[in-house]
Amino acid sequence: MQGLGIFAILISTGYTLRHFAIEQFLVGSVIDSSAFTRNLEQFDEKFSWLLAVVLVVGLVWTSFVTYLGLRPMGRILRTVKRRGPIQSSDDDVYNDEPGEWQDLGRTVGKLTRGIRRREAQLVREREELVTILGSVNEAIVAMGRNTEPLFFNSRFAVLFGTGSPSAEPSLRERFRVPELLEGFDRVLTEGSTRTFRVRLRTSIHDSDREFTVSVSPLRSIGGGQESHVYGAVAVFHDITELKALEQIRIDFVANASHELKTPLTSVKGYVDTVRDDLKSGNFDEATAFLDVVQRNVDRLILLVNDLLDLSVLESGAEVKKSLLSTAEVSYQALNLIDEHQSKRHVIHIELRANHVFGDRHRIEQVIVNLVDNATKYSPAGSEIKIIWEPGAGVNVGETVLRVKDNGPGISEEHLPRLFERFYRVDAGRAREIGGTGLGLAIVKHIVIGHGGSIAVRSRIGEGSEFICRFPSVKI
Ligand code: ADP
Repeated sequence: MQGLGIFAILISTGYTLRHFAIEQFLVGSVIDSSAFTRNLEQFDEKFSWLLAVVLVVGLVWTSFVTYLGLRPMGRILRTVKRRGPIQSSDDDVYNDEPGEWQDLGRTVGKLTRGIRRREAQLVREREELVTILGSVNEAIVAMGRNTEPLFFNSRFAVLFGTGSPSAEPSLRERFRVPELLEGFDRVLTEGSTRTFRVRLRTSIHDSDREFTVSVSPLRSIGGGQESHVYGAVAVFHDITELKALEQIRIDFVANASHELKTPLTSVKGYVDTVRDDLKSGNFDEATAFLDVVQRNVDRLILLVNDLLDLSVLESGAEVKKSLLSTAEVSYQALNLIDEHQSKRHVIHIELRANHVFGDRHRIEQVIVNLVDNATKYSPAGSEIKIIWEPGAGVNVGETVLRVKDNGPGISEEHLPRLFERFYRVDAGRAREIGGTGLGLAIVKHIVIGHGGSIAVRSRIGEGSEFICRFPSVKI
């Protein structure tokens, strides 16, 4: 700026002098016109040289000053570029610069460090959030005011067959379920959390599933009274299995109570009668009545034992396995079966496999329950087979137990439910025969507890075959 000022003063002074000389010539104070013209030309020439020299010197001076000014800044930028975010220990890089450049350098370094740290933190937080939301079993979706999806987790994508949020239709279009849409609308307008139950069709299940949906408003930052609801988050919790389990529990309690109540009612009735008879001195039927009481009490004991057994098995109690002789466990089990029952049948034991790996008491219990059923449900004199054999084909490495009878068989529609607690094909007959309705459920739990599997083959009129597969190695 100073250079430009000097330059301007020089030009204006030169031209003022020139103008003054020309004026003097014109008013006639200068007589020799040729000498005047020559002097004027010499003045112009020298003045031009002077201007050129001043211009060059000015340019050189300006460049020098600019260079001095920018040199520290260039150095700072080069250092920042070369070394990346500057650590606090790097501050001495700027120590040989003039004071204000040192400060500027430190500030730039701190800003760079801060921005990069924040950036890395945000990326990490986002990844953590996506991982957490992806690993929960609930489907989660965040939506805008028009129910357009803003974000959803992988469970939501799996259950409701969704691509990316931007390519998605609004939730209003996706779920055309009035209760759900009304819930979304109320949260978006009223701004309070709501929870409700709905049945929804998913992409991976054949039938509708039951969900509890919890919808909470999303508010703009501020959070005070004046904050604005810009969307909502909906969490879908699938309670179908939970409800099925709850139903099983309710059915079980109802069935168990019923099973207990029947013999208890009978016991109470006969005891009352016997007491009245005894009071009135009538002893005729007392013994017969007390026999009925005894049978019912025996049945109650059986039932309570089976219930206790089942609860132990269902709690996943440890199975103590050892290598057992199939002959030994089979004969031992037959000794435990009601003699009166088993002597009415011809029982064959076929030993094609000599050992089974299992808990002695539990394996015997399996044989007792299956043979007991075979004797109960097949006609007197018929043949029952207990077969032990090694698994073949895909079941190689297993030890297989088959219990076969020539009884009436079971129709196909009952087979899938046969191992459920208290399930009976003919409830009246089963009670009359004296079953608790828990025998096959206990067998199933024992076999599964050994790491094996159970199946049944039966047809009306063709007898029944129960097949238990036990792994031959300790698992
Ligand atoms: P229960 O104590 O009533 O025998 P289980 O659980 O042992 O209870 O058996 C369930 C039902 O399966 C029985 O009530 C009966 O209807 C049927 N069942 C079991 N084993 C046989 C079999 N060998 N032949 C025909 N039906 C059978």
